[in-house]
Amino acid sequence: VVYDLAGTITRAELSEIQHISPFVTAIAIIPFNAAGHPEITVYSNTENRDSITISTLQIIGNNQELIERLSEFAIAGYRKIEAFETTSGKNQTLLMFAANKNGSKLLYGIIIDNKAFVQLVLSSRIQYVAQEKFILEVIDHNNNSVYKSDPLTDTPENSYQQSIWLLPGYALRINLAGTTIESIIKQRSRQNLIFLALLDIALLFGAWLIFRNIRKESRLNQLKSNFISNVSHEVRTPLALIKMYIETLEMGRVKSEDKRSEYYSIISHESSRLASIVNKILSFSKIENEKQHYQFKNVPLNQIVEDVVLAYSHHLKVKGFTLKKNLDEAIPEIYADSEALSEVLVNLLDNAIKYSDREKKIILSTGRDSTSVFLVIEDKGLGISEQNQKHIFEKFFRVAEGDLAYKTKGSGLGLAIVKHIIDVHQGQIFVSSTLGKGTKFTLHFPLKNRSKN
Ligand code: ADP
Repeated sequence: VVYDLAGTITRAELSEIQHISPFVTAIAIIPFNAAGHPEITVYSNTENRDSITISTLQIIGNNQELIERLSEFAIAGYRKIEAFETTSGKNQTLLMFAANKNGSKLLYGIIIDNKAFVQLVLSSRIQYVAQEKFILEVIDHNNNSVYKSDPLTDTPENSYQQSIWLLPGYALRINLAGTTIESIIKQRSRQNLIFLALLDIALLFGAWLIFRNIRKESRLNQLKSNFISNVSHEVRTPLALIKMYIETLEMGRVKSEDKRSEYYSIISHESSRLASIVNKILSFSKIENEKQHYQFKNVPLNQIVEDVVLAYSHHLKVKGFTLKKNLDEAIPEIYADSEALSEVLVNLLDNAIKYSDREKKIILSTGRDSTSVFLVIEDKGLGISEQNQKHIFEKFFRVAEGDLAYKTKGSGLGLAIVKHIIDVHQGQIFVSSTLGKGTKFTLHFPLKNRSKN
C-alpha cells in the first residue's frame, strides 16, 4: 500500500490506513524547520501520542547520521526504510523513511505493533517458507515466542537463529521438521559415500572395458599374424609337392604307367587342397566384406549330406576312415542355401578327418525335434578342451602350441565360416567334446518355412 501523506492526515485517513494495515499504531510526519530542527506531528488513535513524539525525537537525535543518509537516498530517488526500536511502548517499532519535498527535508515515521505485524503479515510468509520441512519461530527480546509455524512441536534452544531486520530485537528461529541437522548430515554423507562408491565401480568397469578391448585387439592381431604364417605353410606344402612331381614327370624318368598315374593323382589331390585353401580364404573374405549372397530354397538336408559324403568317399577311404550314416528319412526339407550347407559340411568333415588320429570313425546323423531339423557330425578324434571350446568359432582361432591338435595345420577360418552360415540360416551350432575321446557338432535348423532370407 502506498500512502500519499501530503503533510497532514485526517482522522478518516488514519482510520483508512489502520483498516488496511491494522498493525499500524501511529504515523508521524516530521518536516524540518529553517534552523534544521524537526517539527513533529503524530497521528494516532491511542492516548500515548506524547510518548511516541518524545521517543521519535529521541531516535532522530540519536541517529542523525542515519537520518541524513535516508534524506540523501530520497534526493537520489530511492526510498530506504530504517527500523528502530521505540521506547514509547513495548513491542513497537518505528519505521522511518525520508521524502524529497521541494528540496526540503521531510521524514515520515510509521509506528507498528510488532506482535500484530508478525501475526498479520509475517505469519503467512513464514508458513509458506516453512512448508513441511522447517519449523520457523519468531521470538521477541525476551525469547518469548510470538509466532510459530508448527505450534505443537518444541524448538530446541540451540536452533539456528537469525535476527529480523525490520523488527529490531526480534529473531527468527529455524529448525528442521521431524529430523535434526545431524541426521540430515549423516544421511547426506551416506548418500555421498554410496555415490562415490558407485562412481568408483563405474570407473573400474570403464577401465576394465578398455583393458578388455585392448586385450581383444592385441589378441586378434596375434591371431592374424599366426594366420598368415599358417596359411603360407598350407599353401607352400602342396605347391612344393606339385612342382616336384611335375618336374619328375617332365624329365621323362618315370617309366612305369602305374607310377605316372600315381604322380598325377598326387598332383590332382594337392591342387584340390590348394583350391580348397584359396576357396576358404575367399569365402571368409566375402563374409567379412558382407559380399556373400545366399539363395534360399526348400532343400532336402539328407540329399546334401549324401552328395558331400559321395564327393569325400575316396578321400575318406584313402585316409582309412569309416563313415556311418544315421539319416532320418522322415525329416522335412529345410529353408536353406544348399551350397552354403555343403560348405558347412565340408568344413566339419575336413576337421573331423584332420583332428582324428587312432580311431578313424565319423558318424553323421540327421533327425528332427519339436522345433528344428538337426544334423550331427561326430568323430572319435583328439577332442577339444573346455577352455578352447569357447573360442573355436572365433576367426583365426587355433589351439595353442602344446595341444595335440596344434601339429595339424589349418587357417583358423573353417569354424568361423561355419558359424556365420548357421547364423544366416537362423540356426544354432553346439559343440560337445572330451579331450582324447572325440568331438560332436550339432547343427539345428528352424523347422518352419521362412519366406525371406
Ligand atoms: P582350422 O583351420 O585350424 O581347422 P577351424 O576354424 O576349422 O580352423 O577350427 C578351429 C580349431 O578348432 C582347430 O584349430 C582345432 O583346434 C579345433 N577343432 C575344430 N574341429 C575339431 C575337431 N573335430 N576335433 C578336434 N578339434 C577341432
